[in-house]
Amino acid sequence: MPEITRHDVLVIGGGLAGLRAAVAIHDAGHDVAVLSKVYPIRSHSGAAQGGVNASLGNHPEGHDDSWEKHAFDTIKGSDYLADQPRAEILAQDAPARVIEMEHWGAYFSRFPDGRIAQRPFGGAGFPRTCYAADRTGHQLLHTLWEQCIKRGITFLNEWFITRFVTSGGRVVGAVAMHVPSGELAAFGADATVLAGGGYGRVFAKTTNAYINTGSATAAAYIAGARLEDAEFVQFHPTTLFGTNILISEGVRGEGGHLANAEGNRFMDRYAPSVMELAPRDIVARAIQTEIDEGRGFEGGYVHLDIRHLGADVIMSRLPGIRQIAMDFAGVDPIETPIPVQPGQHYSMGGLSCDEDGATDVPGLLACGECSCVSVHGSNRLGGNSLLETLVFGKRAGDRAAGLVGGGSASDGALSAALEDARRSIAALKSRGGRERQDAVRREMQSVMTEKVGLFREERPLAGAVDAIAGLKERHRNVSLANTGEPFNYDLIDTLELGGMLELAHVTAAGALARTESRGSHWRTDHPARNDDDWLKHTMATHVEGGEPAIGYEDVIITSYEPMERKY
Ligand SMILES: Cc1cc2nc3c(=O)[nH]c(=O)nc-3n(C[C@H](O)[C@H](O)[C@H](O)COP(=O)(O)OP(=O)(O)OC[C@H]3O[C@@H](n4cnc5c(N)ncnc54)[C@H](O)[C@@H]3O)c2cc1C
Repeated sequence: MPEITRHDVLVIGGGLAGLRAAVAIHDAGHDVAVLSKVYPIRSHSGAAQGGVNASLGNHPEGHDDSWEKHAFDTIKGSDYLADQPRAEILAQDAPARVIEMEHWGAYFSRFPDGRIAQRPFGGAGFPRTCYAADRTGHQLLHTLWEQCIKRGITFLNEWFITRFVTSGGRVVGAVAMHVPSGELAAFGADATVLAGGGYGRVFAKTTNAYINTGSATAAAYIAGARLEDAEFVQFHPTTLFGTNILISEGVRGEGGHLANAEGNRFMDRYAPSVMELAPRDIVARAIQTEIDEGRGFEGGYVHLDIRHLGADVIMSRLPGIRQIAMDFAGVDPIETPIPVQPGQHYSMGGLSCDEDGATDVPGLLACGECSCVSVHGSNRLGGNSLLETLVFGKRAGDRAAGLVGGGSASDGALSAALEDARRSIAALKSRGGRERQDAVRREMQSVMTEKVGLFREERPLAGAVDAIAGLKERHRNVSLANTGEPFNYDLIDTLELGGMLELAHVTAAGALARTESRGSHWRTDHPARNDDDWLKHTMATHVEGGEPAIGYEDVIITSYEPMERKY
């Protein structure tokens, strides 16, 4: 690889959002390269199980569904923190994006009449989640991958972004390391689209893949893009006890029941009208309350029971879930309930951007889970994230295409950034001392899980902010056990940890500042939503060597007056 390469647009991230953006850029007639630290079809999008929302109205009980109802459910689910015109775009564009995927070859499950099947999901008034058994992400990702291959789009696989290159306040490309060889190179572009995914690995108990560290998101934050609403972290109610592998909401959508150790179906005390199909934040807190009050099983879990669905339904609609339960918990759900507990699942917050992906930094766009458009507000509805990658991936791609020709970097800016990156990696490799990245990482993960989890309170949160600041200090002293070039994951993990600590810091600081309870953010010391003071977005700006600078911005409210959220 030459030291400096140029493309019209550089897309960072080979998950659904990045691939959908790349297709849009290519179809607008421009040269695009997709850079990904893992082979694209290994991105976390491929792990998505339950489905993607669109108001197709195919379900016998859902004929009068509409995009307006989808938008309303999304906004209510967000506890009124979503920017309403953007949630409307999400819902309005959904049918076209899903049908486009079908026409491109996505193999959706079907009703007997041949139309795309839809299942009920939490917080949705209609059965609106389209699915491919319980492997929807896999289907969608492979479909988009095929579309990219068909178009001859350039892929830079196993390249890891270490920093963005800026020139005159504009992002003009990035510096990346080739993981197999350790080689560094600079990539210049008129526009850069970041689709770097979520950062669940900041927590100890998470459904997210090991690769979900948010390192590229942190690099954008360090380059000047603001992080919005990072304190809103989704804890999925049902992750497998022991490993925290996701047990899809589709299981409850198909009729699964939750039961405590006393054999009671406890959701009747928390959300009597919708029971297990209340939004995730409500079900997760209900399960944790049962466990904390001594009605869980030893070790801290409850049962998810699908035996009454019968073997046929389980094997045709939930085959992946059955396999996961057998392989990782040793139970066959046809005969035995699945042991589940809540775990981190999704980052509602992310890089602040508008409906076309534009961030605060000219030349840099964001889409997918790393972004905050904001359509999910303080709590995302299941099935809306796969949808977000398609709707806003396309829009960010269209916007990036419009920026082509708007001036890219001089070779000077790119080679100066490359040299600087080389120097800092050489300095890290020659650093002495005994501090190791894995110890710091584990401590960060346990601080975040214990103090910035489902139930939050001032003192533990303040302790978390201090602890993270201390861990950032320790990270500056980390030395490497491996100073080689090829596949140096000691080096990559150390670089990623720096980014993870930045994201953890913003999450904890935002949660400490927000003295109310809204959606996923539950403060036991401030248990009510407080619209007078807190109907606003948290905006964090990076400060080199210091605490994040926190400011606030108004929520865009148009058609839907905030109401109390009841289910
Ligand atoms: C187990 C699981 C199940 C889910 N099920 C559903 C579901 O049924 N329905 C739903 O709506 N949502 C679901 N979600 C959420 C949804 O899958 C994700 O939010 C979405 O797929 C994210 O897509 P993305 O393209 O933004 O990121 P990802 O698919 O995570 O891709 C991120 C990309 O960024 C690249 N990258 C990151 N950092 C760097 C770097 N430093 N340098 C280079 N490349 C980098 C990675 O290589 C990767 O290609 C699920 C999530 C999980 C974890």
